[in-house]
Amino acid sequence: MGYSLRFRAAAIVLLGSMAVSSWSAVPRAAAEPASGKSAAVKPWDARKRLLEQVSAASGVPWTSLAAVDQYERTINTARKRKASAPLAGVYYTEEEWFGALNPDHSDPSARTIALFGGAGTDGSGDGLADPANDLDVLSSRVRQLTRFGTGADNWKIGVAGVYGSERAVERIAQFEKIYNHFQKLDLNDHAFPVPLKANYSYRGTWGASRGWGGHRMHEGTDIFAGYGVPARSTCYGIVEVMGWNNYGGWRIGIRDVNNLYHYFAHLSGFAKPLKPGDLVKPGQVIGWVGSSGYGKPGTSGKFPPHLHYGIYRDNGTKEWSFDPYPMLRQWEKQERTKGLKVDAVKP
Ligand SMILES: [Zn+2]
Repeated sequence: MGYSLRFRAAAIVLLGSMAVSSWSAVPRAAAEPASGKSAAVKPWDARKRLLEQVSAASGVPWTSLAAVDQYERTINTARKRKASAPLAGVYYTEEEWFGALNPDHSDPSARTIALFGGAGTDGSGDGLADPANDLDVLSSRVRQLTRFGTGADNWKIGVAGVYGSERAVERIAQFEKIYNHFQKLDLNDHAFPVPLKANYSYRGTWGASRGWGGHRMHEGTDIFAGYGVPARSTCYGIVEVMGWNNYGGWRIGIRDVNNLYHYFAHLSGFAKPLKPGDLVKPGQVIGWVGSSGYGKPGTSGKFPPHLHYGIYRDNGTKEWSFDPYPMLRQWEKQERTKGLKVDAVKP
């Protein structure tokens, strides 16, 4: 009941400030993370509400905001740094926020910061540009991103301007597609790459000097299984790469919203309707185990059939692989005890 009252108050403030500027401020209290009285609010819900508020104020769809916010979160993880505010993933350095020549990094007055050309603005309507306030940081970022307008092309130019690379533009567009398709933020369920009822075996072979299929440094885990055992997406994501590779044979690469690239190699074939740009979910069949690779397109049978599964993290400028074995063990165990939480899609 307190919730609906507060929500109504928020709507009134929102309407009131719309008269002043099309880029309205939203009240701070409404976006604060769960605490005390509103402890029932889950973090995903709080995040969704924050995105919806900034969406209402800026006219940018919440899925686009989610993509940007999540992109920054993944870059923070890769670079081992913390987001500026508790809920949003947005990251500002003090110089960016307060302005490079601003001598006082403790004065969050929106007016002073604007004077020094800092990126910090007030999104919550209290006159302060507080780098620890979720509405302030997310609103400030969206202002930078929509400098040229909110249309699709202008948004892309804005994204390239803020993040400085085509790679970031591509990632954020992928995340947008994922959020648009699944319409939720919580996309962290996983599945083991082959059905648990199949006959398979694997062990930690990370860094072995040479794996099956000619990988120079073995970047992944080989899951041995018979020809035709289904290979399944391990995550919610988007098909980024699909086709032939001289080492990997018929292979598929899937990007998830954690900016991880899941690589499946040596397949005997792909699940038929699947194509690059398609959205997939955990447990969805994407192809079948085989022994393709190590030669020109179509080469097969140079080693025993297995699924090569690799995982790569993007830090915004480069990608590197890490050992998927511990995650595979975890996903296998989860699926064994709890079952697959999402519906497996048949090809
Ligand atoms: Zn391998």
